[in-house]
Amino acid sequence: MSHQEDAVLSTMQDVPLTVTRILRHGMTVHGTSQVTTWTGEGEPQRRSFREIGERTAQLAHALREDLGVTDDERVATFMWNNAEHVEAYYAVPCMGAILHTLNLRLPADQLVWIVNHAADRVIIVNGSLLGLLAPLLPQLTSVEHLVVSGPGDRSLLAGSHAQVHEYEELLAGKPTAYDWPELDERTAAAMCYTSGTTGDPKGVVYSHRSIYLHSMQVNMAQSMGLTDADTTLVVVPQFHVNAWGLPHATLMTGVNMLMPDRFLQPAPLAEMIEKERPTHAAAVPTIWQGLLAELTAKPRNVSSLGQVTIGGSACPPSLMEAFDKLGMRVCHAWGMTETSPLGTVARPPAHAAGTEEEFGYRLTQGRFPASVEARLVGPGGEHLPWDGTSAGELEVRGPWIAGAYYGGAGGDVLRPEDKFSDDGWLKTGDVGVITADGFLTLTDRAKDVIKSGGEWISSVELENALMSHPDVAEAAVVAVPDDKWGERPLATVVLREGATADYASLRDFLAGRIAKWQLPERWTVIPAVPKTSVGKFDKKVLRRQYADGELDVTKL
Ligand code: ADP
Repeated sequence: MSHQEDAVLSTMQDVPLTVTRILRHGMTVHGTSQVTTWTGEGEPQRRSFREIGERTAQLAHALREDLGVTDDERVATFMWNNAEHVEAYYAVPCMGAILHTLNLRLPADQLVWIVNHAADRVIIVNGSLLGLLAPLLPQLTSVEHLVVSGPGDRSLLAGSHAQVHEYEELLAGKPTAYDWPELDERTAAAMCYTSGTTGDPKGVVYSHRSIYLHSMQVNMAQSMGLTDADTTLVVVPQFHVNAWGLPHATLMTGVNMLMPDRFLQPAPLAEMIEKERPTHAAAVPTIWQGLLAELTAKPRNVSSLGQVTIGGSACPPSLMEAFDKLGMRVCHAWGMTETSPLGTVARPPAHAAGTEEEFGYRLTQGRFPASVEARLVGPGGEHLPWDGTSAGELEVRGPWIAGAYYGGAGGDVLRPEDKFSDDGWLKTGDVGVITADGFLTLTDRAKDVIKSGGEWISSVELENALMSHPDVAEAAVVAVPDDKWGERPLATVVLREGATADYASLRDFLAGRIAKWQLPERWTVIPAVPKTSVGKFDKKVLRRQYADGELDVTKL
């Protein structure tokens, strides 16, 4: 008897893990949970998960029957976070097509490149964003249909080559059920391009299976751990890595969603927290810095917000402390477009609870969940130990981690050598250390680390120390060329109103916290740190401004 015949077969069912299962579950078991969309004035728009599910079916009918969307086709969204965007999140993948979320903050040339690369034929767009999209249309030759949702000036689309439809008119009268196809769990469900901080943007294509498994992880108690008693304020855009998985995870567990639509400024955010009383929120640090300033200037009752998830860039310790004082517990997390994004979450281990160690654990990027394997690779390609001190480039692998990039219509997937190892792990471009119990601390991005005389200086460490100074609103540190040392840090600082600190006093302040040889000698005050399309410090711009002599630099 061959080994094959002898083998014990699993007796378990092989049920595909699809987004459709999440939809069916959410609209029935959690049918009364709600998606609330902020409208700026008057009552917010409220829709139950059941209604969302019914409208999702109507949208799928419209896309298939009126617009002729077929399997595998890309349907793009150019939208804020709102109920209609949630409907698109389900209608498109569940009918077998691919949801392509467009990052509306990208520069025009990159957006055009991305739409053409993905060959989007349909774009669902919020009316309030037509001013941004309309000028690009002449270059978007693959686009045949625009579906417009919400208030906005339609006349901006006059003369466009694409056919224009009203979202609500398309849905009206369509059946509220859809015969969703049985999909293979490995079918492509959604795609998102990286924001292209280096080179052309790269398309990451999520599968039904990767989204399903990732959503389960988001829901685990050691990740966000939300239930149907919670309402999450989804500030992280739906166009940025699936809003960190929240629109999917919430339908699995019945968590209510509060969607800010276009009202992302600190004042309306504070108002919606006070009025709608969310228990959780997720966003990048810049949003929280803005909200903190707003709450300091004009205190509001934000006591409902017990937990905030911060990721996308490092959470400065000063920000975490300030939020702790307001009763909002920050949970730090790390991820990237290529990791769906959940990679690590900083929940301290039980033995650290209530001890002095606890805050230190919370400041790390976090611990790897069971499904994300990690390793550190040194400059010579050697694998480094998890000892909390050996720093190397982080590589990861797992069921919701990208193993390649989209190669364009008909093209093979791309596996650039600088992004994927020979054995298929993702090279994250992040440099850090890992402790024996699996906590990751990032010290820098490989391209931001300052290489001074053969030693590495962490730009992030200097920034965090600077931002803990009471006069400093924001600080970004970049490497600049230096004749003697190769590279040295340049500190660019944004001062608070009425600040009195000068460069020498800032340097003295750092001297108590940072090794002397790492202290910057070049300093400049800037009005604001340039930001990328998703609100991260754009150090590329600072490096270029320095090289072009645009910064007024003082050398101490
Ligand atoms: P982009 O690479 O274009 O900025 P991503 O949103 O995919 O787009 O960014 C992922 C990167 O953001 C990570 O590789 C890492 O450098 C950074 N990042 C994300 N979360 C954190 C965090 N908690 N701390 C520090 N850096 C982070």
